[in-house]
Amino acid sequence: MEDPNDSHPEEIPGVRENLENNDTAAAAARIQQYLERENNIPLNIAITGETGSGKSTFVNALRGMSDDDEGAAPTGVTETTIEVTEYPHPNYPNVTLWDLPGIGTTKFPAKKYLELVGFEKFDFFIIISDTRFRENDVKLAQEIQKMKKKFYFLRSKIDDNLRAERRKRDFIEEETLTKIRDDCVHRLRGLGIESPQVFLVSSFELHLYDFSLLQQTLERDLPKNKRDTLLFVMPNINPEIIIKKKKAFQSKIKYYATLSAAVAAVPLPGLSIAVDAAVLVVAVTHYVHAFGLDVPSLKRLSARTGVPYADLCAVIISPLAAAEITKDLLLKVIAQLAGTVALIAAEEATRWIPFIGIPVAMGLSFTTTYKVLNLLLEKLADDAQRVFERTLV
Ligand code: GDP
Repeated sequence: MEDPNDSHPEEIPGVRENLENNDTAAAAARIQQYLERENNIPLNIAITGETGSGKSTFVNALRGMSDDDEGAAPTGVTETTIEVTEYPHPNYPNVTLWDLPGIGTTKFPAKKYLELVGFEKFDFFIIISDTRFRENDVKLAQEIQKMKKKFYFLRSKIDDNLRAERRKRDFIEEETLTKIRDDCVHRLRGLGIESPQVFLVSSFELHLYDFSLLQQTLERDLPKNKRDTLLFVMPNINPEIIIKKKKAFQSKIKYYATLSAAVAAVPLPGLSIAVDAAVLVVAVTHYVHAFGLDVPSLKRLSARTGVPYADLCAVIISPLAAAEITKDLLLKVIAQLAGTVALIAAEEATRWIPFIGIPVAMGLSFTTTYKVLNLLLEKLADDAQRVFERTLV
């Protein structure tokens, strides 16, 4: 757990000055604005490939949906003369996956194609093929490079290839995978891509093969401010992802804590706890969404994995998972957290001691929010791990 004394609320420009000048309202507004922006950073991912290559299946897998899931239907946006389909992430509307038709099915040269699909808005491109990559794929990649955007080659339906090869007597999975990967790289090199990044993926089993490598590569390549955005929408494909999500959230707890500290400085009875609860609702809702512990996410996971919804719920311990996060529910849960009740009571008591009481209340409010959020986050991350493990059984 991060030490609250190590936190630097001044990391957000202007907050320290506001607090030093006792302008807590301005500090709170600044932090709130910062958190809102942080939670809404846009991420646009372009997925392109020929019809049947597995684009929509991959898009649905990234959104945690199964093909027959409601809401998996394309929104049917038609831009210009190329039909691009927009799929917002169900928990993060700021993240959009774009299904673009294969360049081969359009009659446009790569440059025109990119202009028509509006390439500027995309953070990166994923070029999918379920067979060998073609000249068209390479032309597109080269043009994407000219536009200073990133691209990744994704070889889909790897489970199909492995199934076919498995029948052979001398089958070794790792060797087959290496062979397919090398073939793709060799071919792409031959067509003019110097060091192609190729990932072998099965959209039905994202936890296998190269998907986690793709995730790590994307994370490394993205600008810093977008890394967490990508991380939070990633399905929980392994325990490491869940831990990463937890760490990313932990590093932001100090802002929520400062926010409630700033509010505690305003001497109105009962205000602090009410606003703290509002701050907590925002944070906890975010945790639940990123961990996929909200009811719709759990239902989608059940549909994808075939593990009954009730079985997933059975391994959940936190009352905040598989529930609607309301102030009332949160206050109930917090009341049950050992140790925090005393702190909250102390804060209410001290805020009324003139001059001295207000700074003390600020400190207490910071500590309370800090501890409460860390505890809740810890419990939700544990639930996410248990749910993940349950889907593997
Ligand atoms: P799109 O036209 O590019 O959107 O392709 P679809 O996503 O509709 O996929 C075409 C077919 O390939 C469907 O029958 C999918 O079920 C199947 N498919 C897609 N991805 C995979 C995969 O990773 N493994 C297997 N075995 N089949 C897949």
